[in-house]
Amino acid sequence: MTKKYDLVIAGAGPSGLLAAKASGLAGLSVALLERKTDIARLDRMCGQTLVSVNDYYFDDLVYYNRQAKSIGFMKSGFSFAYDGPVQNCTAWHIYSPCGNRMPFGLPEETRKKGDSGMVGLAYDKEILLRCLLQEVQDAGVEVHAGIDVTGVETMNDGVRVSGSGKTVEGSYLIAADGTNSRIAKICGFNEGRTFYSYLLSRGSHMQNLNLPDPDILLSSICYRTPAPGFMFIFPRPYEGEYSVAFLALDPRADLEKVERFFTQESPFFSAWFTHAESTRQLASAQYMYSPVKEPYKGRVLLAGDTGSCQELENTGAMISGWKAGGAVAAAVREDSIGIASRGIADYVQWWKATYIEKCPHEAYIMNFALPYVLDTEDDLNYLFSLIKEPLPPCWNPYAAIGHIGQLMQRLLPTIQKERPAMLEKLAKMSQPMSQVLAEATRGCEPIRELQ
Ligand SMILES: Cc1cc2nc3c(=O)[nH]c(=O)nc-3n(C[C@H](O)[C@H](O)[C@H](O)COP(=O)(O)OP(=O)(O)OC[C@H]3O[C@@H](n4cnc5c(N)ncnc54)[C@H](O)[C@@H]3O)c2cc1C
Repeated sequence: MTKKYDLVIAGAGPSGLLAAKASGLAGLSVALLERKTDIARLDRMCGQTLVSVNDYYFDDLVYYNRQAKSIGFMKSGFSFAYDGPVQNCTAWHIYSPCGNRMPFGLPEETRKKGDSGMVGLAYDKEILLRCLLQEVQDAGVEVHAGIDVTGVETMNDGVRVSGSGKTVEGSYLIAADGTNSRIAKICGFNEGRTFYSYLLSRGSHMQNLNLPDPDILLSSICYRTPAPGFMFIFPRPYEGEYSVAFLALDPRADLEKVERFFTQESPFFSAWFTHAESTRQLASAQYMYSPVKEPYKGRVLLAGDTGSCQELENTGAMISGWKAGGAVAAAVREDSIGIASRGIADYVQWWKATYIEKCPHEAYIMNFALPYVLDTEDDLNYLFSLIKEPLPPCWNPYAAIGHIGQLMQRLLPTIQKERPAMLEKLAKMSQPMSQVLAEATRGCEPIRELQ
């Protein structure tokens, strides 16, 4: 007879690993299925920073304990070992194409506060995944690598999960298979979600960059391709190393051209890359949907990016994974002692209150919407030229949009006087994001194969 687990988890990213640790520690029999054969290996581009360490994020405060070498979450009350290197990120600066700057924090100020001044923390995600995997195994979870989940059959009392020639059964399934989740698709969670665009990226780890500050996060926007492109530079926790990512929402923005603009053609940015050496190359291609509002049905619970727009970030994925694992552990316990069930309902309520309501996905999308609204380099250069004071230190996509909104209120009288036509463009930001990004959505149509 096939063994039936209390819980099957699909996907061993940050959310799946934390779900596995929480449920394993609670004594459940758990099978963790992962498509990659080497779970700790990073195939996909990621900035590998903790978002965000100087602010509440998903209603929690994430911290790094230098002495214990661990990462923890104060309100959710969990932590895990991380024995790799770290690098404080002391500010986030966004640049317009000609090099005008919108600074979230000034590093010369935030550095003085040491660990309390940082906005994010760079770490090595492969080491983090390795550390988490060890804790998951120590918690008694059965880990099955190299299993690409392709089938999910839900029954009254459980779930049958199959892929790569293997079938396992569990009382519950946590789908933690990321933002392109196949499980969300086959189980019908994608019905009713709005498709906005892709998030496409390519980039590499680089050395010998000549940056304005060595320890800050940098980003900028490129208008030289048929759709806007973006650049993000993340410090790495290794001397002189950075992760440089070029991104776009739709394939009309040829990412090779975006990269060429920043690294070779732009009079301002190319100076950062004169002696750059690329080491490892990474890429990603993801869907950007509106989030799943009901992350549980038919004994399948969603965790992490699986149910999110794009994205919870590693921090949010860890919190939601931990809570999802705890929710299923509670459900199994409730069932065995015969009390009314509430564990999973509590998770669903947390998801709605903490993510859907307090971290509106439209705010996240706005981080990419500015060049769709201010559609010329000149507009953006002018807007950024008006910024004379730093914004609060921040590496939180949801909070950043609030700060930018307040900045706009302060700048409105000047813009009205000097460039009234720009106000009409900026007013588009108050439209639904599906309208703001309509052009990007159309740009994705030719290669879209959704739902
Ligand atoms: C360019 C870029 C930069 C980013 N930078 C940052 C950053 O600086 N800081 C930050 O906090 N976040 C960042 N993120 C976001 C972060 O990477 C994600 O939010 C996080 O990884 C989500 O974790 P997860 O566990 O939910 O999903 P994932 O990390 O996507 O993990 C899903 C896992 O499921 C597996 N899987 C998928 N399908 C199947 C299947 N069918 N069967 C079995 N296994 C499957 C995958 O192999 C993977 O291991 C970035 C993302 C991108 C694209």
